Amino acid sequence: MSNSYKSCIVFPPQWTPFNPHFALYTLAGYLKGKDIPLDILDANLAFYNEILSAEFIENLIKEYNVLLNSLIKKKKDATVNEEEEKKLRFFIHFFSEQPSFTKGLAEKVSKFTEILKSKTDFYDPMKLNEAFLFFDKYFEFISIAYMPANLHFTFYIDRRFTMDFASILNIIKSNNTQFHKFIDKYVQDVIIPQNYNMIAFSINTDTQLTPGLYMAYVLKKHYQKDVHLSIGGNYFTRLTDVIEKETDFFKLYADSMIWGEGEIPLEQLITSLRDQTDLNNVNNLIYWDEASQTIKKTTEQPWQQHLDHMGTIDLSQLDLNGYLTPEIVLPIQSSRGCYWGKCTFCDHFYGANVSVKSLDNVMRDIYQAREYGITKFVFIDEMLSPSFVKRFSTRVIEENLQITWFTNGRPELGFNEEVLGLASQAGCKMIMCGIESGCDRINTLINKGVDIQRRFEPLKIADSHGIWNFAFIFFAYPTETVKEAFQTVRMILDDNSCIDSYGQSVFTPGKHSLITKEPERFGITKLYYDESQFATWVNYETVAGMRKGPMNAVRRYLKDLFLYKHHNYVPVWFKFSNRDTLFLYLSRYGKQKIKRWHFKDLKNFKYGKLDINDPSLLIEGDYNKSLLGKDNSGSKVGEFEVNQFNKNSNQHINSNLF
Ligand code: SF4
Repeated sequence: MSNSYKSCIVFPPQWTPFNPHFALYTLAGYLKGKDIPLDILDANLAFYNEILSAEFIENLIKEYNVLLNSLIKKKKDATVNEEEEKKLRFFIHFFSEQPSFTKGLAEKVSKFTEILKSKTDFYDPMKLNEAFLFFDKYFEFISIAYMPANLHFTFYIDRRFTMDFASILNIIKSNNTQFHKFIDKYVQDVIIPQNYNMIAFSINTDTQLTPGLYMAYVLKKHYQKDVHLSIGGNYFTRLTDVIEKETDFFKLYADSMIWGEGEIPLEQLITSLRDQTDLNNVNNLIYWDEASQTIKKTTEQPWQQHLDHMGTIDLSQLDLNGYLTPEIVLPIQSSRGCYWGKCTFCDHFYGANVSVKSLDNVMRDIYQAREYGITKFVFIDEMLSPSFVKRFSTRVIEENLQITWFTNGRPELGFNEEVLGLASQAGCKMIMCGIESGCDRINTLINKGVDIQRRFEPLKIADSHGIWNFAFIFFAYPTETVKEAFQTVRMILDDNSCIDSYGQSVFTPGKHSLITKEPERFGITKLYYDESQFATWVNYETVAGMRKGPMNAVRRYLKDLFLYKHHNYVPVWFKFSNRDTLFLYLSRYGKQKIKRWHFKDLKNFKYGKLDINDPSLLIEGDYNKSLLGKDNSGSKVGEFEVNQFNKNSNQHINSNLF
């Protein structure tokens, strides 16, 4: 291909700046294999480096002085509006709590950033905790001017965003987010001078929507029709039904959108634009057709995107030392889609065909990464099968690779003594399982495809081999009662479950999940699809189940009881909840030490605030008739006993406490 046609892929903020995003180096690798040049621009990393820079801090403090003086003056003149009043109150509150926060701020930011990247200080939990606590305050500080938009390393929430195009445009036009100045400068200094012919954006989470679309908006205004702008990524794949009707999307932000697996469509798009052929021949594309002044959607690519044809990863364009980690934890993939694919709530695998990479090609990616000194990996597969884990681990041991890794998995019995023993020997430090619920009735409805009665056996074996068990759980599956939710609480706290840590969420059915296809089977009486354009889930009404208040109370209660079980000391993993951080700690210290380490922190202790016998917490519907038969928990809400979860935990009191 002629090298004069210039393309790039931009990864806009906001995403965690700890490690590179998988999309960047896989797309780069695939197109390199096709001899198509593609520049990789990690604008997210550039953004975080910018807001941690001394120059940014110096300017921000100057701006804050001006802003604060103007707010005070307006307050005195009684001309302050409601929003300004809030901002002023926030300033006063912030500085009354830490009056000298801005003193030497650039040096403090530099010092704590160094801790995040240090191969020694990062692994000192006291220092790392101090750094995280500092950054909590720092992000609070830099967000004051942009209220109600809050930013951190791991999140970006703007309460003005109501999941629709109108609110995004309002935010863009407000000229008031943490991203506006950075993006204006980045577009001018980094993107425009390169004279690209095609610019693609990789948008994979809702936190990238506003900044990503703002960047596209600025470029669209600048280039009009001279440069083709295309948006793709996992998030937009779920929104094809919205985009194919949204004329403004093509007027304001992009000329096309790629949906589904992006490698081949992106290759086709670049080739088609370069050769000026009909875009209708590009698969998986929604685009604005100038001639007919309409939106067109092309056909889905035929079954051809096998992972073995995707080439190897290409890390050559990434600034691997720039990420805020002492060691890169590189996402790798051995399969796409989900070989089970029948959990009723799930559509994680939507838009991806099931495809498994050969072991040779997985190893090739690992060797490729090792050339850059990378020895830590996370498999981002929906889950690894026991047979793959066995073959992979055997190979890693045979080739003496000296790597560590973690993965998603399903608590299936194939994860037996042999497989998990090999996995541990091959450097597996953590398996994250969808345990989902402690209630058999709910688990049957979920249809995880595992033996519900024996699903803790693999966790016990993993535990015996020093592998950390992380459990995903959720509350409020349709018709779940408070009593059933407490079975999940009980499961987490029960030492026999061998669950080392958990991540809890509130159930929301994915837009493309099985539950939305047969709602009545799950007690759902109504689904609301059209409420918000950007929602990848649907809201619903159900015949029975927990109300929001009791559900939140149960969630808080779990946390409180968990801390109570730990004698009110906070486990290290609770503080360093980022999975990559926990994994790096497990790689360095091993599971037993991490289990023993706790912080003293009584602030979060709220045990006893909820009376679980309070009948107002319960809404029990007549689900037994319409659904799966009787609740088989065999317990009543009132039988719940805290102490039974406490019986094995005396060891914690004598542990290595900070
Ligand atoms: S939740 Fe179930 S269907 Fe979804 S990826 Fe995991 S195993 Fe597959």
